Amino acid sequence: MSTASPTGTPAPGQLTFVAPRRAKPARHLADLTMAERRAAVAELGEKPFRADQLSRHYFDKLNGEPATMTDLPAAAREKLGTALFPKLLTSVRELTTDNGTTRKTLWRLFDGALVESVLMRYTDRTTMCVSSQAGCGMNCPFCATGQAGLTRNMSTAEIVEQVVAGARALAAGEVPGGPGRVSNVVFMGMGEPLANYKAVIGAVRRLVEPSPSGLGISARGITVSTVGLVPAIGKLADEGLPVTLALSLHAPDDELRDTLVPINTRWKVSEVLAAAWDYAAKTKRRVSIEYALIKDINDQEWRADLLGKLVKNKLVHVNLIPLNPTPGSKWTASRPEDERAFVRRLEYHGVPVTVRDTRGREIDGACGQLAAAE
Ligand code: SAH
Repeated sequence: MSTASPTGTPAPGQLTFVAPRRAKPARHLADLTMAERRAAVAELGEKPFRADQLSRHYFDKLNGEPATMTDLPAAAREKLGTALFPKLLTSVRELTTDNGTTRKTLWRLFDGALVESVLMRYTDRTTMCVSSQAGCGMNCPFCATGQAGLTRNMSTAEIVEQVVAGARALAAGEVPGGPGRVSNVVFMGMGEPLANYKAVIGAVRRLVEPSPSGLGISARGITVSTVGLVPAIGKLADEGLPVTLALSLHAPDDELRDTLVPINTRWKVSEVLAAAWDYAAKTKRRVSIEYALIKDINDQEWRADLLGKLVKNKLVHVNLIPLNPTPGSKWTASRPEDERAFVRRLEYHGVPVTVRDTRGREIDGACGQLAAAE
């Protein structure tokens, strides 16, 4: 026998190193609740208050480098650093546009998987658009991420680290406009957040919990965007987290939505909208209906009319997104006059509607373009 068995047991007398197949990213401080952090620190033979010190370094000072945490004894830094601050994200490439106020980062994860995040600074807010999965399994034909399929779920800390990295760049004054903070987080990067429910909820909790437990971002500034996984929307409504729900509808009729958002074959337009209205009733939060306008596919006035009838008099806002064509796609954005007519039709029904800007388009950082092509 010349190779180790698949179970990792070497043949007798053979010097073989079988690398452990780590299926999951290593545990990080940001994966843990405050109580879990104290327990983890105690398990390593350190006083539980060290967990508070570490948390302040990470969530207040945005410092993830244990070697620089000089208020901890050197031995503790080494031990706790190794155990709670594994390197999760490595920046592979950074692209900026809009005079540096839009910035996309391509990250490599521990296992080589690639994901992207985008920072967008406006005059009154700064939004981080984060990924929740490497790839995506929802297979929407107009979305760049959907074409590549799902690689794996991200961990809570891998999600949080994207926001911390943005917060760090802002705090350091690296983004034009002076030192600033992250005010909004949208789960509109790669992945279907509600298909990675547990890790995403963990990340949302870390984002909203006040210091030293988390980053202290207002739940109202956080948007979870979904294709419409109905049971998970129901669960989210019961979390007691008033985050904004964005529902990627893209078509008001099942026939078309079955093709644009294939999960519609499982949960129909009527079911997904019912879940959205339940969400709005429970959280008192306005639900955002996302609708990518695709020329001659879903932008007809009769569809605007049908959409208007379905959502009128609800706690809702319709967000029209001019399609960002993905490479090789036959589809493109609607004609300006069709877009205007679509808006007018919704306004006729009294539905609040806006057309989303397409920031980051030049750096493939706009909605649905995050594909991590390398
Ligand atoms: N999986 C989640 C979140 C990620 S995508 C979801 O589907 O909601 C974030 C938003 O961008 C979704 O509304 C998605 O439908 C939209 N989107 C995807 N590809 C797009 C494209 N090429 N042009 C415009 N919007 C797109």
